[in-house]
Amino acid sequence: MNLFKKFPFKDKPNTAVITCVHILNEKQPILYVSHDADDGCWQFLCGREHSVEESKIVALEEIYEMDKSIKK
Ligand SMILES: [Zn+2]
Repeated sequence: MNLFKKFPFKDKPNTAVITCVHILNEKQPILYVSHDADDGCWQFLCGREHSVEESKIVALEEIYEMDKSIKK
């Protein structure tokens, strides 16, 4: 359970978040992070414009493993 203690979010590691194919496939840096206060929805995007096909749903822990700099 040590892994979970280190996890820097209040949300569970398996929380579904929105990211884009540029970050997933092209290893682009995460430049835009949004956390919707109403529905709790996280978005981690590269800063470009995105079509629906370019957005992907992954687990919060996957994003964190890719870029540890996202923790606040
Ligand atoms: Zn992108």
